[in-house]
Amino acid sequence: MSVVDRQEWDVVVVGAGGAGLRAAIEARERGARTAVICKSLFGKAHTVMAEGGIAAAMANANEHDNWQVHFRDTMRGGKFLNQWRMAELHAQEAPDRVWELETWGALFDRTKDGRISQRNFGGHEYPRLAHVGDRTGLELIRTLQQKIVALQQEDHRETGDHESRLKVFQECTVTRILKDGERVCGVFAYDRETGRFFVLEAPAVVVATGGIGKSFKVTSNSWEYTGDGHALALLAGAPLLNMEFVQFHPTGMVWPPSVKGILVTESVRGDGGVLRNSEGKRFMFDYVPDVFKEKYAESEEEGDRWYEDPDHNRRPPELLPRDEVARAINAEVKAGRGSPHGGVFLDVSTRMPAEVIRRRLPSMYHQFKELADVDITAEAMEVGPTCHYVMGGIAVDSDTAAARGVPGLFAAGEVAGGMHGSNRLGGNSLSDLLVFGRRAGRHAADHALGLAGGRPAVDDAQVNTAAAEALRPFSAETEGEAGPPENPYTLHQELQQTMNDLVGIIRRESEMEQALHRLAELRVRARRAGVEGHRQFNPGWHLALDLRNMLLVSECVARAALERTESRGGHTREDHPAMDRAWRNVNLLCALADPTGGLAAADPARGQIRLSRETTEPVRPDLLALFEKEELVKYLAEEELYE
Ligand code: FAD
Repeated sequence: MSVVDRQEWDVVVVGAGGAGLRAAIEARERGARTAVICKSLFGKAHTVMAEGGIAAAMANANEHDNWQVHFRDTMRGGKFLNQWRMAELHAQEAPDRVWELETWGALFDRTKDGRISQRNFGGHEYPRLAHVGDRTGLELIRTLQQKIVALQQEDHRETGDHESRLKVFQECTVTRILKDGERVCGVFAYDRETGRFFVLEAPAVVVATGGIGKSFKVTSNSWEYTGDGHALALLAGAPLLNMEFVQFHPTGMVWPPSVKGILVTESVRGDGGVLRNSEGKRFMFDYVPDVFKEKYAESEEEGDRWYEDPDHNRRPPELLPRDEVARAINAEVKAGRGSPHGGVFLDVSTRMPAEVIRRRLPSMYHQFKELADVDITAEAMEVGPTCHYVMGGIAVDSDTAAARGVPGLFAAGEVAGGMHGSNRLGGNSLSDLLVFGRRAGRHAADHALGLAGGRPAVDDAQVNTAAAEALRPFSAETEGEAGPPENPYTLHQELQQTMNDLVGIIRRESEMEQALHRLAELRVRARRAGVEGHRQFNPGWHLALDLRNMLLVSECVARAALERTESRGGHTREDHPAMDRAWRNVNLLCALADPTGGLAAADPARGQIRLSRETTEPVRPDLLALFEKEELVKYLAEEELYE
């Protein structure tokens, strides 16, 4: 008989970033008793780091903007591999979600006539990012948190208990999604501070755990990004979609080494910053690909005029989608035209007065001053690509956010796949969190409250297995497996180096094969990952548990990247440098090789992931009609054009 504490809820939301909080608010407002569980402190989720803004076609800065233009930009950015229905819903609903935030107390920057200010970002035809200086994520989370507290106060007035309908379990990590047959029935978790195990029983679980960047050495991502939600879904039987697409943001800090990878927001370029190589050349003009040629300026003069008169000039190529800019920087550095520390120069100092820079980019000003002793109002920054975002994720239904194949499982935010195709546009994540967070919360609540045939039950055997799995690192030494216990920190470093070097921004077949080989070795060693001490706040133990997730997700990325023999968006193959129209309608799905969800029994030296292909759903004709035929010819497969 299990002695693990249990509580019953209608909906459990795993993750308290923008997606998780928006989902929780919606589920509670629809009447579902909702628990939110997060491994960081409440209010400290990765979303807090978001800088530039929320993309929404509100047309405040340019009256020509509308959802159709936003949809077009998103599809172009994703190179037409986006789950088009998600891109449509996202473009249509994002403005309402921003206005709603304002009614809940968000204080956006304003235009001179008092409307929400919107700024330029790469790949967006019009200024579209609603922002709060360069601290937009912080304001978003503050507002959602405030809304949660307001709902809890409402509940207190009615029931005498703040947490009767909406409760946050902070600093608690979920290690397994539990199932009753095919159906979700709850989650197994541990409290990071005490090490205590507990179970939250619920017929609906929303996964909103964010990304996977901590599997790479150079990343802008926070410590939370160990791919937990991706792995939890896989282990519960839900497939992951197009995991080869990982976004390398073009501008991370490159110096000093201790801060390598920290993000330099795209707002710097949106507000006029330019990229130069060691010869002082604005090199992006040499890197405009054919598909974008008509939309970008041909000369520096035209690019500069665009900031003042966007209706009669084309935008500068520094504002191409991120994948293009990252590859260009990589090529310049490789050609020997890089900055002293292996990046290129990003300059605002010659483009704007110092007080404007300090007002519009306050975090960047302080970040460089404090971390690199660089005054960006007087000198150029040194920047280079950094692993930033994963487009691949849990395969979901576009309308309901339901994960494929597992009744009761939902996913929203960065952990969900499909919305951004092969490359995400800046600003489209915060809007994605709000649009699909709300949808996931709504449908999870409806699922939980509309159950026919009673609630699914959590059986003790499953709980005991999850507890044994979580305790394994404490007994690694005594299990008699070959070799001494492995240090989880060493394993993590080797994993990060492997992914960075062999499945990074430019990929080659032989290197990815090598990566899969190394991942297999790491998996064998990770089974012996051992920790000392006890369960009370033990970071080594936490990392040992996270390793399972990072290894699973890394294998998905490497296998899918090896399979896709073309270059598209965030996936660049040196041996297949062109985008191939025949791949436009191919999705790659990763599923667990052992469908029972057992990893312990599987041979870790063999792959744990099974890869399959599926044909994408054809884009609806009225949405295709938003594009010129000449443009579609560049993207769509032959048979799609014919249809
Ligand atoms: P998160 O905000 O990361 O939340 C994940 C939650 O899941 C956390 O609460 C975490 O504790 C919890 N969690 C994870 N694993 C577990 C587990 N096993 N058990 C329990 N809880 C768990 N996008 C934009 O659109 N505009 C921007 O300007 C922008 N700027 C950015 C700047 C930086 C520096 C970075 C790194 C990203 C930026 N992005 C931006 C991207 C965007 O911030 C993220 O994609 C987005 O915040 C992800 O939100 P989320 O709700 O999916 O996940």
